Amino acid sequence: MKIKVHRGLDQIGGCITEISTETSRIFIDFGQNLPGNGEPTTPEEDETLVKKIFAQNKKQYEAVFYTHGHEDHVGLFEYIPEDVSQYMSEGTKGLLEIKYDVLYEGANLKVNEFLEKECDSLEYSDALNRLIYADNKCKLLNKIQVWQRTSPRKVLECICIGDIKVTPFFNCHSIYDSHMFFIEADDKRIWHMGDYREHGYLGKGLIPTLKKYATDIDVLITEGTMLKREDKCIHERIVSYKMQNVMRAFKYVFVLASATDIERLAAIKRASIDAAKPLYISSLFMKKTMVYFTERESKLSKGLFSFEPLFYNDRMLKKLKQTGMTMVVGTSQMKRVKGLLDKLPQEETLLIYSSWDGYYKDPEQVKVNPKYKEFRDMFYNVVDIHTSGHADRQTIEKVIKTVKPKEVVCIHKELDATL
Ligand SMILES: [Zn+2]
Repeated sequence: MKIKVHRGLDQIGGCITEISTETSRIFIDFGQNLPGNGEPTTPEEDETLVKKIFAQNKKQYEAVFYTHGHEDHVGLFEYIPEDVSQYMSEGTKGLLEIKYDVLYEGANLKVNEFLEKECDSLEYSDALNRLIYADNKCKLLNKIQVWQRTSPRKVLECICIGDIKVTPFFNCHSIYDSHMFFIEADDKRIWHMGDYREHGYLGKGLIPTLKKYATDIDVLITEGTMLKREDKCIHERIVSYKMQNVMRAFKYVFVLASATDIERLAAIKRASIDAAKPLYISSLFMKKTMVYFTERESKLSKGLFSFEPLFYNDRMLKKLKQTGMTMVVGTSQMKRVKGLLDKLPQEETLLIYSSWDGYYKDPEQVKVNPKYKEFRDMFYNVVDIHTSGHADRQTIEKVIKTVKPKEVVCIHKELDATL
């Protein structure tokens, strides 16, 4: 059995790990480089990289498994050769379908608008390109296989790729339906943690799961995102509690958060209930992910992951001014939020910045993606309330102590970060 980390040993994201035997091989994740992490690449370079990887070490049985739906883990799925099977969780595929459907719908609307006007502008070709891009992604997604969910507590069925056996286990991360993998190859037992944490609503199963199933492990592959960051990892419950406190102090509260992070959305929802504020959203993507989460998780989570937000439009302004509000937003809604901000009294308006602070603090990040800083700068009052989607050093150490592997491979970390 051989393990080759193609990318991820000296950068956060862009992960590609290969595990092979004489006849078979699997890849865990095929991610795109995150902005500011590793060399930025063009789509052509990405395609060449994937081709190169698949041209070497060819095996009779090959497949790719994805831990979760963040771009730094699934970003290159479209370049995987057609004869190679790809697997992800149902929820990961569902989220990606929503993402590209929304992109498609938006681009389609724009294209039709331009067609009616019969004008041939740069904007038109831009929309057309987005339409083709989203359509292509949707079609390719269709071919990806999923592992079926069983009842919680029950082990998922393993998937065999030649003589390699892969068993997915749920793990808690800042995106819905993330997984880690137990891999058996050539009498070796490997555990790939994926991206994970213990301090989320769904994190308490982490150590018990490892205790029960990660036994006699030869190689543990863990992420090390937080090894060089000093961020305190507070529990998602505390995030909610802190939010609730500031929500009481301001009439109009915007929360900048990710539409795919089910646990953060739940923390925000709980806070807004506790602060007696109606919950609004204003993006179609967030509306669809919330409907999806509610359909799939409301019952199992006893209502924690049940969302019934109001979808904001300008006709609701009067009502909103009577009741105050919490509105969950993303950086893509900058224009819409600016429009609403102009109609609200500045001193009664607050932004809860609930994303990684590096996006606005780190000059390199701001350079490659200025949106977070720009969004933040629109507000007079801002407070940071966030906790990481990744394991802190303590948790990583606890995982290693629990699994007691013969060897640890640390990926998804900065070059000079050490365990
Ligand atoms: Zn990642």
